[in-house]
Amino acid sequence: MSKQMPAVVNYAPEPNSVEIREIPVPEIGDEDVLLAVQAVGVCGSDIHQALGQHSWKVNYPVVLGHEFGGVIAQVGKNVRKFREGDRVVSETAAVIDQNSPFVRRGLYNLDPTRLGFGAGVNGAMTRYAKVPERILHRIPTGLPFEIAALTEPCCVAFNAACGNARILPGDSVAVIGPGPIGLLCASMAKLSGAGELVVIGTKTDARRLQVALKLGASATLGANGEDVVAWSKSMGDGHGFDLVIDAAGVSATLKLAIDIVRAAGQISKVGWGPQPFNFSLDPLVQKAVTLQGSFSHNWPIWERVINLLSSGRLDLGPILNRVAPLTDWENAFNAMHTGEIVKAVLVPVE
Ligand SMILES: [Zn+2]
Repeated sequence: MSKQMPAVVNYAPEPNSVEIREIPVPEIGDEDVLLAVQAVGVCGSDIHQALGQHSWKVNYPVVLGHEFGGVIAQVGKNVRKFREGDRVVSETAAVIDQNSPFVRRGLYNLDPTRLGFGAGVNGAMTRYAKVPERILHRIPTGLPFEIAALTEPCCVAFNAACGNARILPGDSVAVIGPGPIGLLCASMAKLSGAGELVVIGTKTDARRLQVALKLGASATLGANGEDVVAWSKSMGDGHGFDLVIDAAGVSATLKLAIDIVRAAGQISKVGWGPQPFNFSLDPLVQKAVTLQGSFSHNWPIWERVINLLSSGRLDLGPILNRVAPLTDWENAFNAMHTGEIVKAVLVPVE
């Protein structure tokens, strides 16, 4: 094994401070495995971080990438359940405090000391990643790494649509923001039996809204400047959606969510952005709406999503539009950022 490896490194908070650098292959601890990365997804948050538009703390310089799978190349001496050669995917909570009250409840995604791959610690846009055994999941041989690498964003969507929100068969569901997470939320809503399923974007989202239709959305709005509020009043009994999933990367869309949710309905907010907003929350109170934030995921969600992916019930075909070598990271980031493609996966080439 060579001691150095190329990695996509975000080295400073200024916009576009990302480049390929040679870094050392990580040394693993007793509880870790060294994972030979086979595929790593590009996340909207990698792009936000590269552009310096993120809301979270970053330990610069850091290797980007938190959606990944690979083959175990080496195991630490206390690793019990995995061996060299095992095919696995990894969760994102790289460092947690085992004594945190949230960790003790199984909610390690909400541990305030949690450090995630690609921001708090080095991520997987490279050849080898150091991963604790605690967050590994085995994947079946029939599941290709390009698909398996996207388990993570599917888990984010699962938690937003099916964990932190409840969908009953026949519920009307709107998804705001047709980025990868929004589209995956639409897929999860479909799997949960949503009735009317509407994905809402803007004029620049025409291509991604087409993908939403392929995933089973009953309608899309926004590509032609439609009046979304008026449309939602024309649907069903005219009182709006049972559930609105806000997956846009800004906070201002919460206004639209409040406008189109029905009284006693739910809003699940999974998209985020640091900008403040300036509007009244009175309708939230008056309509007695449940507003629920959704962040990350935990173990049982991963096991369910791996099952959905390996059984083919969750089809990522319409979403995964590009598989490219790691060296092509910049084109992949740009293509996703402009909405030319929904999702890219990078593959390290030896
Ligand atoms: Zn992500």
